[in-house]
Amino acid sequence: MEFYRSEPTAQSSWRLAVLMGANSRTYKFALGEALLQAAGEGRDDLTVAELAAPYAMALVRRAQRYPQVSAKQELAASDFLSIAVEEAEASLAAGQPTQRLLEAAVTSMPAMVMQKFHNLRDNGSASSTVGHTFYEVRGRGKDRRVHLTPELRQVAAGAAVLSDELDARWSIVETSFDAGIGTSLLRSGVVLSADGEALQAPIIRRAHVASARHALVGFQHGRCFYCHQTLTTLKRDVHVDHVFPYSWMRTGSWRGPDLNAVWNLVVACAGCNLAKSNRRPTETEVQALDARNEAIMASPHPLKRSLQLTMRAPGRAEAKTAEQRRSFLRDVVHLTTEGHAGTAWAVTS
Ligand SMILES: [Zn+2]
Repeated sequence: MEFYRSEPTAQSSWRLAVLMGANSRTYKFALGEALLQAAGEGRDDLTVAELAAPYAMALVRRAQRYPQVSAKQELAASDFLSIAVEEAEASLAAGQPTQRLLEAAVTSMPAMVMQKFHNLRDNGSASSTVGHTFYEVRGRGKDRRVHLTPELRQVAAGAAVLSDELDARWSIVETSFDAGIGTSLLRSGVVLSADGEALQAPIIRRAHVASARHALVGFQHGRCFYCHQTLTTLKRDVHVDHVFPYSWMRTGSWRGPDLNAVWNLVVACAGCNLAKSNRRPTETEVQALDARNEAIMASPHPLKRSLQLTMRAPGRAEAKTAEQRRSFLRDVVHLTTEGHAGTAWAVTS
């Protein structure tokens, strides 16, 4: 995948696993959180139970707010998630998993999530794995131990940004599992709040899904879109920026697509955001935007859905192919080039 080829690092492998895998449940995120925490504490060898405790606690905390499995799936009483729901209250009150929850996590975690964490989505041919290994399970039965690799420790060193990304991805996936909001997310993708800061659920209610900067930064390798410096935090010195200036929509004569949409939004450092202001993007920047959007396309619903639905001219088919999306970007460039007349939007308006 181009995303990995452009930056073949352990961080990119981590992002492939966390941001771009298919999710029928949220176990991978809970494991990711537990791994970052353990590696951040300098651990490199621990028992399955030591990893299962933060894993189970992360799941019960999140399960308080949203379902951790698609509403379409029926859970058996013996399912780990059923036990997590039953044990949530007592575990949260104690600040650690109950014995029953811990045992269920230790029993189920290796096969349920640890064997799958490194897998990329099955792309129709053979399923493949990411290019780096973050842990190995050694031994058998009660003697099983989890060995954390140097690659994981390297990834965990930049954990502030990666945990924010993981958190945002988790929010997007669990919101899409929610029966009330999920249907609209899968049909219509996420929409941006007016200030471009938040991703929201459309149609049913404008519910907050995730921070836009947290949800998008991973798809640009955690770097400023313009100067490529690594962003170490996602706080106030990091901005969300419209590549095609949002101010163009307020001129009254704008006849192009909605510029306040995921396809046009990137994360940038304060300096670049300020310097860019309202200038039109360069050709290189449009190409980089295309590459970033294609990275998002590898991520399952609903971010992917947002791009398919918004990167099209009125009356045109959903932009399901990379060529259609590229053609859309070319149309927007034409539309914003002075003296250009016949565009898809001008014709239909
Ligand atoms: Zn910058």
